[in-house]
Amino acid sequence: MIAADRKSTMASLNAEIAECAGCELSTTRTRTVPGEGSFDAQIAFIGEAPGYYEDQQGRPFVGPAGQFLDQLLGSIGLRRPDVFIGNVIKCRPPQNQDPLPHQIRACEEWLKRQLEIIDPKLVVTLGRYSMAKFFPGQSISRIHGQVRRVGDLLVVPMYHPAAALHQGSLRKTIEDDFKKLPPLLKSALEEKKEPAAETQQMKLF
Ligand code: URA
Repeated sequence: MIAADRKSTMASLNAEIAECAGCELSTTRTRTVPGEGSFDAQIAFIGEAPGYYEDQQGRPFVGPAGQFLDQLLGSIGLRRPDVFIGNVIKCRPPQNQDPLPHQIRACEEWLKRQLEIIDPKLVVTLGRYSMAKFFPGQSISRIHGQVRRVGDLLVVPMYHPAAALHQGSLRKTIEDDFKKLPPLLKSALEEKKEPAAETQQMKLF
């Protein structure tokens, strides 16, 4: 898909998301938070769900966790417009509760279509719920920072920046995991011809 088509397809998708009444979160949200950034990004970062600030502004990762995410991106020479940043859930769960299985299911189609439009070389999941979308039953402490193939996508699970903010020891871990992204992207770009070293065959969504 060419850039102009991606932009207009994403605009229509965002309009659909804004109208979504697929679960009860549609009755408590201020705004939907579809995600933002480059629609032909090489890397897509997928967090969990909008919090208070995201719900107010309709933009992902604009609170304290977002500030840390900006720093992490900066540490590898990237800025927000260079990447796509989205979430598994597009509406804020009240009191920032953990997303419930039926809410995740109701939002499933949106993330699937976003990733089809962007077609990123790498997907980075931020946090347990985002990881579980691609690697159900896995433990983040075991697989963070490792790239695996899921269907057509190369996915790198990482800790959530908010967890790293609150737990000092995870800060260095997520900083180190981010440093792996430039070489992983380089190999992903070269990989077109050769299969990934570590593959995981799994049906996506
Ligand atoms: N945490 C998330 O997972 N996503 C956001 O957009 C903000 C905080």
